[in-house]
Amino acid sequence: MKSISGIPVHAEVPLSDITSFRIGGPASAVVTPRSETELCTVLKSAAELDVPYKIIGFGSNILAPDEGYQGVVIRLGQPFFEAEINGCSVRCSAGDSLAGIARKSIAAGLSGMEGLAGIPGSVGGACAMNAGAYGAEMKQILSSVRIIRDGAVLDTVVSDADMGVRRSVFSAPGTILLSATLTLREDDGNAQERMNDFMQRRKSKQPLDLPSAGSVFKRPEGHFAGQLIEQCGLKGTSVGGAQVSAKHAGFIVNTGGATCQDVSTLVRLIQDTVFQETGVALERELKYWNEV
Ligand SMILES: Cc1cc2nc3c(=O)[nH]c(=O)nc-3n(C[C@H](O)[C@H](O)[C@H](O)COP(=O)(O)OP(=O)(O)OC[C@H]3O[C@@H](n4cnc5c(N)ncnc54)[C@H](O)[C@@H]3O)c2cc1C
Repeated sequence: MKSISGIPVHAEVPLSDITSFRIGGPASAVVTPRSETELCTVLKSAAELDVPYKIIGFGSNILAPDEGYQGVVIRLGQPFFEAEINGCSVRCSAGDSLAGIARKSIAAGLSGMEGLAGIPGSVGGACAMNAGAYGAEMKQILSSVRIIRDGAVLDTVVSDADMGVRRSVFSAPGTILLSATLTLREDDGNAQERMNDFMQRRKSKQPLDLPSAGSVFKRPEGHFAGQLIEQCGLKGTSVGGAQVSAKHAGFIVNTGGATCQDVSTLVRLIQDTVFQETGVALERELKYWNEV
């Protein structure tokens, strides 16, 4: 293992080890900065060496390429500071676990994250993706962020236009989320029960026993992607090791040895079939590596 100014650098790390789909060839280097200063050092070093980089969080919404990546993967998968709760305000690091912050906020008597608690991503990834479930989305609770944009660190208030359906301006190239301030509300006494209910629904409906990246498609206006896919008879359809989940047709699961090629071929097959049979164009929520 090498290092940049004392920061450990792991060489030739399979992307399959750091993405929930368990797919992807080796990245030349993977670095997990432990502070804002370390992150800035890594960015400076990559710029000086003219090495490309990509930012990932917990890798739970990414399809990584079979050929791997010739560059540095900067993994914001570790908090830079301990989350702070002041009244209804929660300040947390991009590398915090969203589920962990949801649990902490409920324990502190706050409500607003019950629906988000089962999303297996980092806070940074959830902000970047405007993650959401069960009527909740990050946009509703995200007040301000600390980011690096084009080399400068800035604290900025989040506006309505910054976040849309499973997208945000924070995943644009050159932008890195460092921390987020969430504004929640006082618990009406039932937040824990609501969270437990949502978690139970996930367990019963989602294929959590197999590697995946969650729902592959955004919810089309007036429909559910999973229902349309099922209606077209695609449930259980496989390409290599990639399969339309038999439990939830909105998920593609890796049944063993799936490649990026298998998944992208299956995605195209689903999109083409659903469009031909229903006229609905399914838009991908899953991020392909060149979009990360
Ligand atoms: C079983 C399962 C269930 C899921 N359920 C849901 C669900 O209910 N709702 C939902 O919305 N999603 C769901 N997902 C998808 C995924 O968990 C979310 O999109 C999550 O928010 C991604 O966070 P991450 O840290 O894993 O991001 P990653 O997958 O690592 O990255 C996703 C994108 O965010 C960018 N990014 C990550 N961190 C940063 C940062 N600090 N600064 C700038 N950009 C960054 C990356 O570059 C990439 O473009 C599910 C996934 C799985 C596997």
